Amino acid sequence: MMNKIIREVPNSFNLPYRIKRLADLAHNLWWVGNPEAARLFKEIDPLAWEQYTHNPIVFLRKVEPQTFDDLIKDRYFLERYDRIMREFDAYMQKEDTWFHDTYPELTDEQIAYFSFEYGLHESLMVYAGGLGVLSGDHLKEASDLGLPLVAVGFLYTYGYFSQRISEDGWQEARNIELNFDDLPLVALYDEDHHPIKISIELPGRELFARLYELNIGRNKLILMHTNLPENNPQDRQLTDRLYISDPELRVSQEMLLGIGGFRALQRLGHQPSIFHMNEGHSAFLTLERLRQLISDGKTLEEAKEIVRETSVFTTHTPVPAGNDEFPVWLIDKYFSAYWGELGLDRDEFMALARIKNDWSDEVFSMPVLALRLSNYRNGVSKLHGEVSRKMWQYLWPTTPAEDVPISYITNGIHTGTWLARRLGVLYNRYLGPEWRNYIDDPAIWEKVENIPDDDLWRVRLHLKRKLISYMVGRARYQWENTNVHPVQTVASGVLLDPTALTIGFARRFATYKRANLLFRDYDRLLRIVTNARKPVQIVFAGKAHPADEPGKLLIQEVYRKVKDARNGGRLVFLDDYDMDMARYLVQGVDIWLNTPRRPREASGTSGMKAAMNGTLNFSVLDGWWAEGYNGQNGWAIGDETHYDNLDQQDEADARSLYDTLENEIVPLYYTKRSADGLPGDWIQRIKECIRTISPCFSMTRMVKEYSTDLYLPALLSAKGKKAPGT
Ligand SMILES: *Cc1c(COP(=O)(O)O)cnc(C)c1O
Repeated sequence: MMNKIIREVPNSFNLPYRIKRLADLAHNLWWVGNPEAARLFKEIDPLAWEQYTHNPIVFLRKVEPQTFDDLIKDRYFLERYDRIMREFDAYMQKEDTWFHDTYPELTDEQIAYFSFEYGLHESLMVYAGGLGVLSGDHLKEASDLGLPLVAVGFLYTYGYFSQRISEDGWQEARNIELNFDDLPLVALYDEDHHPIKISIELPGRELFARLYELNIGRNKLILMHTNLPENNPQDRQLTDRLYISDPELRVSQEMLLGIGGFRALQRLGHQPSIFHMNEGHSAFLTLERLRQLISDGKTLEEAKEIVRETSVFTTHTPVPAGNDEFPVWLIDKYFSAYWGELGLDRDEFMALARIKNDWSDEVFSMPVLALRLSNYRNGVSKLHGEVSRKMWQYLWPTTPAEDVPISYITNGIHTGTWLARRLGVLYNRYLGPEWRNYIDDPAIWEKVENIPDDDLWRVRLHLKRKLISYMVGRARYQWENTNVHPVQTVASGVLLDPTALTIGFARRFATYKRANLLFRDYDRLLRIVTNARKPVQIVFAGKAHPADEPGKLLIQEVYRKVKDARNGGRLVFLDDYDMDMARYLVQGVDIWLNTPRRPREASGTSGMKAAMNGTLNFSVLDGWWAEGYNGQNGWAIGDETHYDNLDQQDEADARSLYDTLENEIVPLYYTKRSADGLPGDWIQRIKECIRTISPCFSMTRMVKEYSTDLYLPALLSAKGKKAPGT
């Protein structure tokens, strides 16, 4: 196979020589996890930086030449530029990374990571929500820790949709076409300067995908895209959007991810030793690996053993009905040419992943395929591990549920991406300048106690004011530029008060998250929010999947309440939730609220982002919060009682929510120590929250656990060795 690869970045910036390396910075997503680097761009022209959605490629193209000419005379800017570039170079060349120092014998191995979506930055809309943000954070941290990792995914034609709320509260979805020239993509060509492509076989035709790369620090993310003239019109749309509902398009898409993704790695010269499937969407990968091993002369059993020993599968779904599966007729149509190559007949092939559900005919289940062909399997929180072992126990019929071989690694978040820059500065001072090298070490975080209350409180107030001026700015823009009714402007936060206790509720509007739980006793809620001495304001945000009608109805229910004048403008709905808004919210509100119906929240990560910024969680003891809550570092909604009757559950949880809010949270926030005028007990709780949650729910802890518990044994078996002690 030809393997000469030419990498090109279309460079159309007119940068002065002195600062020409801003182009390098723009083409490596390292900067998105480094607020000081982001600030370097912003300082060039803050207004344009906002206008071009923090997209450095577009931004650098649009900045006025005069601005650049002024900058290269600005000694302070140049100092900062030089410092950031030095940090970037040092990062890229660093040899004594954690992975290198811990597993020096494994640095030549490679880990391949597959995910349907990646949430890296708001200017790169190839993500829908939590799963994507987790994958994006995983890649950033893998680079920080020096893991030899390469990732595979899709370059979508349309990013996940942009949301507007109509006057009567109905979600309107607009597709935004991505302009690839505006993204930090690396275009890949062969030696004849033809774009590099791979292909897979679909019924009656070959499907082609073009390959691109993104630089994520020291690692690469390979993206596939099918809108090419050689594909038929339907196939050209395969990478149009995330989470297509049409099963036929969906199966083709997943074949491209698993089978095509594996071929893409090979085409670009990668030879990963192990493969991590983040959720079941990429599980066809296991089939392609089997096929190639068999064509190299292995028996089916040998091939299965090799694939299992080198595959890691992470499940994120706590309910059977949420799993990814295909009707058997569809698998017949798409794989009848394929199973012969595995030396299997139809029944043997179907048996790899066929299950019979209570709610459907026989289906071919992606998680079952992944579970059967991976020896390393995990859920994403302690509770979700338990739920997964029970849910999949039937695949290990002779094993008691507690021994089902599915472990858990609780999710985490990438500190550099989610921590407010100003808090980072405060932590530099009080945790020591080296704290970022010990993020997962609880001992470092003990020093949070040393931060003076008024310093911490001043930063917290600053972040809340920043959130409110962000909302006002958006409201003003919409008022000027779009057709909004005045009440919509009020609903988007113009009446908020920076001194009032502020609650954030931002998440996907799926019914199990119960965004309307707060409204169960609306009169009681009104009394809480409109209390003139101790007002409470609540900010909602979030999208419903465009095909989720109940989710959209939930948005409407919330929006109608938000518009009700009786709440005095204390309830707010922000449309078009994305990573940018998520940053403002998790950093700027006082309380982060989550009300899932237990145990439906596999983990959740937004509450971790909040906690690291000193925003206190107030949540059902589900997902990560069942582990994170210690009685002092936030609040719980309800206890762990399970009611079979959903209405009783909602009633109990709502009552607990109101009681805790009225009797504990509101008084604590508004009770000031007389001497300094600060809410001392509240600040104490913030410190307890930062101290206990930041190390344990960091992406650093998470990626180290994946490395030690899953990647290491898989890598060792790939090298034909056994893990120590086994
Ligand atoms: C972190 C994040 C999520 C995940 O949040 P959870 O509600 O905790 O699952 C979703 N969307 C965006 C934009 C995020 O930043």
